[in-house]
Amino acid sequence: GTFAEIDLGAALNDNIRRCKYVRPTPVQRHAIPISLAGRDLMACAQTGSGKTAAFCFPIISGIMRGPPMQRSQRGGSRTACPLALILSPTRELSMQIHEEARKFSYQTGVRVVVAYGGAPITQQLRDLERGVDILVATPGRLVDLLERARVSLQSIRYLALDEADRMLDMGFEPQVRRIVEQMDMPPRGVRQTLLFSATFPGEIQAATTPYLTRMHARP
Ligand code: AMP
Repeated sequence: GTFAEIDLGAALNDNIRRCKYVRPTPVQRHAIPISLAGRDLMACAQTGSGKTAAFCFPIISGIMRGPPMQRSQRGGSRTACPLALILSPTRELSMQIHEEARKFSYQTGVRVVVAYGGAPITQQLRDLERGVDILVATPGRLVDLLERARVSLQSIRYLALDEADRMLDMGFEPQVRRIVEQMDMPPRGVRQTLLFSATFPGEIQAATTPYLTRMHARP
């Protein structure tokens, strides 16, 4: 199959064509239909496998299909309420994901903001104030933003955890747990979790399966 055969919405399909993606990679071919069906997902994927698009496409498509009021109401507030959160272990990876996600959301009205540590927070705060649908963040910086009440996770409908194994290897488990706890606070809406990892040793499975509640065996 080709991307033209998958209905991700006209604007996103246009952007995929502009990026010259014709055929989904194996991880995309497996992950996109599951995500579009609203299921949680755990996928084993290395760098270079096309995993960024595998979680960005369903998120962008889902936001575009979501209630428009929910989007237009936000922005201009001191506390940003993103609809999707993409957590990644490093600044470099966050920057790459942000760059790709922006290309994919061109002319869709979906706003993507990145926040990572090791850089001044001021510009990131300004970007957040302008409104954000998809927040790409590293765990430490996001905890800082939550403590400052500059981000609220109450509206999150999509959570993507990228390179989950590296995130845990780097000692981010307490931060990730705090972040997920904030999303689970009432009023808790329906949230979809998409988890990507290069490896799945026992510790990773034990640490991450509690986040995945809407997984179903494939028929
Ligand atoms: P990633 O694993 O997400 O870092 O992607 C690796 C590279 O493959 C990136 O440069 C993507 O732009 C590219 N890529 C991802 N999916 C496709 C696709 N379906 N067709 C062609 N290139 C792709």
